Parts: sequence; C-alpha cells; structure tokens
Amino acid sequence: KSKAEGRNTIRFYSDELQKAVTERALLEKEIRVAVEQKEFFLDFQLQENGAGNVSGIEVLLRWRHASRGIVTPAEFIALAEELGLIMQIGSWVLEEACKLIKRWSTLPGLQELGVSVNVSVKQFHHPDFVAQVTGALQKTGADPKRLNLEITESMLISDYHDTRTKMITLKALGIRFALDDFGTGCSSLSHLQRLPIDQLKIDQSFVQHVNSDKNDATITRSIISLARSFGLAVIAEGVETEEQRRFLADEGCEDFQGFLYHPTLGVSDVESYLARRS
Ligand code: C2E
Ligand code: MG
Ligand code: MG
Ligand code: MG
Repeated sequence: KSKAEGRNTIRFYSDELQKAVTERALLEKEIRVAVEQKEFFLDFQLQENGAGNVSGIEVLLRWRHASRGIVTPAEFIALAEELGLIMQIGSWVLEEACKLIKRWSTLPGLQELGVSVNVSVKQFHHPDFVAQVTGALQKTGADPKRLNLEITESMLISDYHDTRTKMITLKALGIRFALDDFGTGCSSLSHLQRLPIDQLKIDQSFVQHVNSDKNDATITRSIISLARSFGLAVIAEGVETEEQRRFLADEGCEDFQGFLYHPTLGVSDVESYLARRS
C-alpha cells in the first residue's frame, strides 16, 4: 500500500465517523423538537385467540418525521432513553392509550378489549413510573383492568426489588403484565412465580423459524409448557404463516399476533374493523 492510499483510507474512516457524529447530533435535535411538537402517533396490532376472536390489541409508537418519513421505535427509543426524554414520550403513549380505553368502553366490539402498552427499561425504573401510570388512568378515567403493560426480562434482573414493588402496586389496581420478547433475555424461572406476571409473549425471532429450526421449536414448546405450568397466558408474536400458526396451536399456544392475522392498523381502521365484526 502506498502512503497516499493509507492516508486516503484514514480520511475515508474519519469522514464516515464525522458523518455519524453529525447525523446523531441532528437526530438528537430533531427528537427534542418531536417531543415538544408532539410529532408522535400510534399504530395498533390486533391479537386473536384460537377461536378466531380478537383477544387484545398492542399499541405501537411511531414518529412522523417531516423529512425522514415514519420512524419506528427501534430507531429512537434508545436515544430517547439516553437523552432523558423517555418519560415524556412514555407519558404521552400511556395517556393516549388510556384515552382510547375510555373511549372504547362504550363502543360495541371494543368494550372488552385489553390494550397492551410497551414500557421501556428506563421508563419502568424511573421513580415516577407508578405515578405516571396512575396519573394517566385518573386523568382519562380509563378502567385499569383494560390496561396491559408489556415489560421485558431485562427489567426483572436490572433491579428486582424496584420491579417487584412497582408490579405489586400496579397489579393491585387491576393492571396486567406481559413479559415481552420472552426467551431472548435471561430471567430466572423463579421470577415467573414471584412476580405478578399474567402473560408470556413468545419472541418473534423464535416464531419465525419454528418450522425449520429444531432449537427454535424446542424453545417455543418450552415457553408454552412453562406458561401452562405457572398458570400464565401465552401469546406468540410475529406469526406470519399458516405453518407457524399450526405448530403453535398444536403445542397449546392460546393467542396469536402477527401479519397472518392482522397488519398494523391506524386507530380509525381498528375502530371500523371491530365495529363491523361485532
Ligand atoms: P415488540 O413489542 O416486540 O412489538 C412487535 C413488533 O413486531 C412491532 O414492531 C410490530 O409491528 C412487529 N410485528 C408484528 N407482527 C409482525 C409479523 O408478523 N412479522 C414481523 N416481521 N413483524 C411483526 P414495531 O412497531 O417496529 O416495534 C418495535 C419495538 O419497539 C416493539 O417490539 C417494542 O419493543 C418497541 N415499542 C413499540 N411501541 C413502543 C412504545 O410505545 N414504547 C416503548 N418503550 N417501546 C415501544
Ligand atoms: Mg410489545
Ligand atoms: Mg413483543
Ligand atoms: Mg419482539
């Protein structure tokens, strides 16, 4: 390699790095604006049981960005946590979800619907988290029994005492808990017994190859039997094919979520679809 080439290589990398730094600074600025200007909206995905009835709905956060288009949570939740914006965003999601619970409580086909809201790690462990949830319920008059919080295994390990106290407090109000992306973390089995968990959500990474990968099939089967042993409900996420559905149903999975059942829908589509079905 010539000296000139070497220099070029170095310049290439520093250009890339510079670009990444600039890009991140821009995104930081933009997400602060997004929080202030409320550039967020919610999408939804319906869940079904084996009998073909809608059994719940998951709330999915989106950011409507002026030039980037629609940005998904995978691209901005970690940044929002780092910047200390997650409580503001999380509050907004909880309040919007609770408004819908309240609104749906009088609509045919939507009255009984359990509404699942994803909670991030920093949000859950924040000292104000319980107040944030109870505040959203009080402000909107939503029935806590319709609210289902999706937490992840990492929360159970990161601060067990805090997790347990908060879960017990919220559970006493009638709120339910699902363990999202189950199987990807490393929670101890004793947690399933000691914490007020209602539902395990089999991660879509296992569901995806359940018909071709022996390990994924074994893990999936184990999660379903684990749920049964502990008396928990179990739902599979990311179900895309009939073969996946059949495997899951044969193993005793009760609820299903994924593109085989429903695409991601906006609020008006959810309402008209469920009104038509009821
Ligand atoms: P998640 O909770 O595991 O949500 C499921 C994700 O899988 C959603 O992606 C959904 O659109 C997608 N999905 C559903 N069915 C299928 C399918 O059949 N095939 C495939 N390939 N994908 C499917 P999304 O909306 O991009 O959300 C990604 C993650 O972002 C969520 O994963 C959740 O952890 C997080 N998230 C979503 N909304 C919120 C929120 O309000 N707050 C926080 N903290 N996190 C959120
Ligand atoms: Mg989820
Ligand atoms: Mg999930
Ligand atoms: Mg997942």
